[in-house]
Amino acid sequence: MAQRKLVIVGGVAGGASAAARARRLSEDAEIILFERGPDVSFANCGLPYYIGGEIAERDALLVATPERLRSRYNLDVRVNTEVLQIDRAARLVRVRDRVADRKYREAYDNVILATGAAPIRPPLDGIDHPRIYSLRNLSDMDRIQAATSGDARRAIVVGGGFIGLEMAENLRRRGLHVDLVEMLDHVMPPLDREMATPVHDALTRNGVSLHLGKAVTSFADDAGRVAAVLKNGERLTADIVLLAIGVRPETTLARDAGLALNERGGIRVNTRMQTSDPDIYAVGDAVVVKDYVTGDDALIPLAGPANRQGRIAADNLFGLESHYRGTLGTSIVRVFDQVVGMTGVSEQVLRRNGRAYQKVYVHPLNHAEYFPGAERMMIKLLFTQGDGGLLGAQVVGNEGVDKRIDVFATAIQGGLTVYDLEAAELAYAPQFGSAKDPVNLAGFVAANTLRGGVRNAQPDDLGDSLLLDVRTPDEHRAGAIAGSILMPLDDLRDRYRELPTDRPVVTYCQVGQRGYNAARFLMQRGYDVRNLVGGFATYRAVHAYN
Ligand code: FAD
Repeated sequence: MAQRKLVIVGGVAGGASAAARARRLSEDAEIILFERGPDVSFANCGLPYYIGGEIAERDALLVATPERLRSRYNLDVRVNTEVLQIDRAARLVRVRDRVADRKYREAYDNVILATGAAPIRPPLDGIDHPRIYSLRNLSDMDRIQAATSGDARRAIVVGGGFIGLEMAENLRRRGLHVDLVEMLDHVMPPLDREMATPVHDALTRNGVSLHLGKAVTSFADDAGRVAAVLKNGERLTADIVLLAIGVRPETTLARDAGLALNERGGIRVNTRMQTSDPDIYAVGDAVVVKDYVTGDDALIPLAGPANRQGRIAADNLFGLESHYRGTLGTSIVRVFDQVVGMTGVSEQVLRRNGRAYQKVYVHPLNHAEYFPGAERMMIKLLFTQGDGGLLGAQVVGNEGVDKRIDVFATAIQGGLTVYDLEAAELAYAPQFGSAKDPVNLAGFVAANTLRGGVRNAQPDDLGDSLLLDVRTPDEHRAGAIAGSILMPLDDLRDRYRELPTDRPVVTYCQVGQRGYNAARFLMQRGYDVRNLVGGFATYRAVHAYN
């Protein structure tokens, strides 16, 4: 049998994974990896940390060099070579060697497109100012590094998504003043707003000037520096602008070849990662995936899915049946001393889709309180009203956020419910967790809600209830919900008769637990009572920027 010839377009996350897997499955296949840039298989995710100095060696970002891919995997790696066209009728690609400025053709039996996504550059006045940068690859990184060296003092980051936040932190590490401009009312658009409150606090605490709910309408030159003009007329001036308002699938090649795309330009693929042409596969940021929870089409640019899809495409090409199950959007980001993880669907998406759901908040410690260094995290869990099926989770804190978000992600993929979270057996020693892990705790509160053990009040739905603060007088003095009355939990049994019986009551404490005890007590004394889920900590997060 003639050896199969596989052409891979794009040599980073999805493309390099597909190439290595293909070689492991077929020693005889001819595998050509075309990459437009000078580098393959580099760590995009590490780029901001080189700029900030946390990753000291540039070479550490080169996960595999072209030479390594050639020697270890016998791949024909052609960097600085752009694929210009796929001629499906003739089964060949037309390419251009950008260094030699030479065009040539290469025949194929199969193609894997791993062309990724490009930073969005909106057609605003002044967008071509030379001091406006975006970050996708090592060359971008080098340019930003050079532009922020010397006497650069100020930067404007436009966009509060992952890359914008990571860059804000790292530009601060380089000693620049940073203005962060975000069009929405909170950073990290996939996150629900109240969960972004600790991130806003961390940014402000660390000297980032936050401009929320403000859009940039144009850029202008300001004596060689760059000015960003905001919709409200405000004008910010800086030495560089980092544009990080999102990415767009890079699919001109696929479109020109007549492959099926969705309305946002993503390449349509089946679960085997095959495009509308069965000989052409596509993976990574360029493809449309199914949202794991909603089943809707989605573009979710993340490294994990790109790598796994590369592997799946290669499996299917070389005889191993393999299917992509959809993307949950499990992700994590560190913003100074805060870590934010999320998985599954958010409340804002559930609302938009008109889907019924329940939610709870808990604020557990990351590990046993008696072991030094325990810190609180905030967990939001979304689940179905009927059977408690998990829909999504968001966790903000510091240490231990990564572990909990991964448990929630695995639970969603396993089709588990809040009752399973109650029962989950997780590793415990005092440095790492608690005998009732934060994951268990979220399960307890959610399952209690479904079983009717307690009725929850949400922070944005207190009605005209009597608000009963069951914390200590010191806690009450340090900050309380306006109009609430104080009756510490330990006094409640002696004093509860002071409470009116003809008015619904909402109990609250700092994080929800004492409030729950109070609610259980008052329920049994005949009161119409709800507990503020997540307590004052959640209330504050919800109302922080109102
Ligand atoms: P890419 O890795 O972008 O590779 C596509 C390659 O195709 C590019 O190198 C491009 O030059 C090449 N190409 C395109 N067209 C052609 C053509 N016609 N001919 C030849 N070559 C072509 N994800 C996470 O999950 N976690 C993170 O922490 C994270 N951090 C990130 C930080 C930054 C700064 C960036 C930019 C991305 C980050 N991501 C992160 C996203 C992650 O890097 C991407 O989801 C992933 O790289 C997508 O892989 P891909 O193979 O689809 O595309």
